[in-house]
Amino acid sequence: MELKLKYANTEKIGVPRALSYYNNYPFYHGFLTSLGFEIVLSDKTTTKLINDGASRVVSDTCLPIKVYVGHLLNLLDKGVDTIFVPSLQSTDYKINNCSKIRGLPEIMRNIIDRPFRMIEPTLDKTEGLGIKDFCYETARQLGIYDEELIEKSIKSGWECYNNFIKMAHSGVSQQSAIESAINNKQALKKMELVKPLSVVIMAHGYNLYDERISMRLLKKLENMGVKAYTSLDITREEQLNSIRELGEIQYWANELDLTGTAAYYLLNNEVDGIIALSAFGCGPDSLMVDEIQYHAAERNMPMIHLTIDEHTGEAGFVTRLEAFIDMLSRKKMKQKQKLKQKEPIKVTPAETERILTKV
Ligand code: SF4
Repeated sequence: MELKLKYANTEKIGVPRALSYYNNYPFYHGFLTSLGFEIVLSDKTTTKLINDGASRVVSDTCLPIKVYVGHLLNLLDKGVDTIFVPSLQSTDYKINNCSKIRGLPEIMRNIIDRPFRMIEPTLDKTEGLGIKDFCYETARQLGIYDEELIEKSIKSGWECYNNFIKMAHSGVSQQSAIESAINNKQALKKMELVKPLSVVIMAHGYNLYDERISMRLLKKLENMGVKAYTSLDITREEQLNSIRELGEIQYWANELDLTGTAAYYLLNNEVDGIIALSAFGCGPDSLMVDEIQYHAAERNMPMIHLTIDEHTGEAGFVTRLEAFIDMLSRKKMKQKQKLKQKEPIKVTPAETERILTKV
């Protein structure tokens, strides 16, 4: 029997607070609101939301996809029946995303057994489909053909996104930068005390900035007095150059946030350690974390790999984190003591003469 759908709320469009939301939402917001739509976001991730998503998929699916399913169901529960589920295939020629991100609309179509309308534009630079094509396809699927309006909305999308990136690069937290950008404001960077220890976190935005998934890792580090650098602190150029300088290439599109960021801080020797945060069941992450672990070991840079899934207990997570930070702190203390204990150089009269006559 053919399913007949009645789209009661076509002026509202649901955006799941998951996956590309964490990097791209300011663009989606600027673009879709300028097209004339009201955006409904799913609620923040909760244990119930994760369980709802996890119960619909096979157990070895990675956590971010389970979370995405939970967010989509949450939007349906809110009565939103038009949902934005982009297919982000490749971000440069032959630089592809993982198969789950590429096939997101197909996966959702096969998992969600409730009627809704999916807006599913494709970004695929390998096939010559760039951002402009992505936006035109979105508009077309929403029944909008007015080119002037579409162009104006693309511009609004970029304005909102560039404002977000500018604030995030200046040190404003990801959450405040998103909120300020979509409200057309400029947030100011918080005054920060110099911290005795610093780390770089290699993680996807959808794992790190989702406080339920990351178990508030950034807040925990702040409370421990540790400065944490993330992919938002550096530019895409810096990420790409660093990964090349390390003698590696970019394999998957969204892995650059992990490898490029870790490579930058590793090469500049600006941090005391690396924290890799990845989801259990993620093939690309497991390979890329190994790659960075190899380079970190070569440079004697301490590194910890924290994997998470829906069953990860906070107590064990915190214990591992505290032990790592403790180790970094002891290592730094020893280095300082070594410097203090270093004997002053004894300069003999012959040596003085040698120094003075040096040209
Ligand atoms: S990159 Fe990894 S964690 Fe992200 S969606 Fe793909 S498999 Fe899942």
